[in-house]
Amino acid sequence: MVYRHLLVDALQSVTPDDPGISLMDIERLYGIPAERIVFLSRNENPYGPSPEVIRAVSRADLRRYPSQDEFLSAAAEYLGVSEDLVIAGAGLDGIIDSVSRLFLEKGRSVFIPVPTYTYYELAARLCGATPVLGHDLRNVPKGVTLTFICSPNNPTGGLIDDEVIREVLEGTNSVVFLDEAYAEFAGVSHADWVERYENLIVGRTLSKAFGLAGLRIGYAVAPEWVVEQYNRAAPSFGISAPAIAGGVAALRDTDHMRSAVKKIVAERERVAGSLRAHPSHANFLYVETSRESSALVDDLLKEGISVKDCSGIPGSDNHHIRVTIGTPEQNDAFLETYRRAEEF
Ligand code: PMP
Repeated sequence: MVYRHLLVDALQSVTPDDPGISLMDIERLYGIPAERIVFLSRNENPYGPSPEVIRAVSRADLRRYPSQDEFLSAAAEYLGVSEDLVIAGAGLDGIIDSVSRLFLEKGRSVFIPVPTYTYYELAARLCGATPVLGHDLRNVPKGVTLTFICSPNNPTGGLIDDEVIREVLEGTNSVVFLDEAYAEFAGVSHADWVERYENLIVGRTLSKAFGLAGLRIGYAVAPEWVVEQYNRAAPSFGISAPAIAGGVAALRDTDHMRSAVKKIVAERERVAGSLRAHPSHANFLYVETSRESSALVDDLLKEGISVKDCSGIPGSDNHHIRVTIGTPEQNDAFLETYRRAEEF
């Protein structure tokens, strides 16, 4: 293609994000009807959103460009922080994109302790920055501009100790993006630490505990100097009116969210009991497998069970899978098929 050279250099270094196989593709490739597929590969919430959300989404005014104000104040109230410190985006991924653009460019580097959520590396590379992958989050390399930490961590489910977060914040000159996408399942948050640390941004989402992965809305708490710049760099109308209306309704019906979280956490502990799983504080388990994970995942797929093979995640290996906690019936179906596939 004659125009190819016009593409930015940063694209050369990017491996596309692997969203994993979709429900539709499983249906098509394996001939299994969607309603029979046990889809536990994307950390979605099987209980979905509050009925209030459905009502609010259907009443959203589609003629007008949306205003985020009501959502920002609902998020501030939910987290108990000042509204001036809240920003929003099209999913937490949208926020990671915009925040990366604020701090990263060619010649800069970003620290990513692995294994973790793979989108940080992609976002950094697209800005032309160099990702520095490490294992010890207490050892943030000198000179990095941005550090991504994830707690509870995807894919391991592990929670980072307060003491370690404090060390990272105080021991580095970088901005620290603390991804708390799964905070509700852990019952721990550091959102209010932003009031004390000028270099901390805490990211949250409605995709997990609130069951709204399809709506695409996320938010973050950031110091005022970052909020100001974010609002210059992020699109003013980047979140749709239905997403904003649904987001507000979701944040106001915390009973619905809490009841889903309670069921998922109870199931997480039950399912973990019969697997070689790392202790998890999220809605998924990081499971060590005897067989090679990619072959195992393929065999599970043939039986209509979709889980995530972690062999492509830097810092993981080829003997781990990540399994989202579903309904008790889905979890039982997974356990039964998994036992057979692993030849316990
Ligand atoms: N951070 C982590 C750790 C995640 O696991 C995910 C979802 N896969 C995201 C961010 C992105 O979430 P959202 O749906 O809000 O874009």
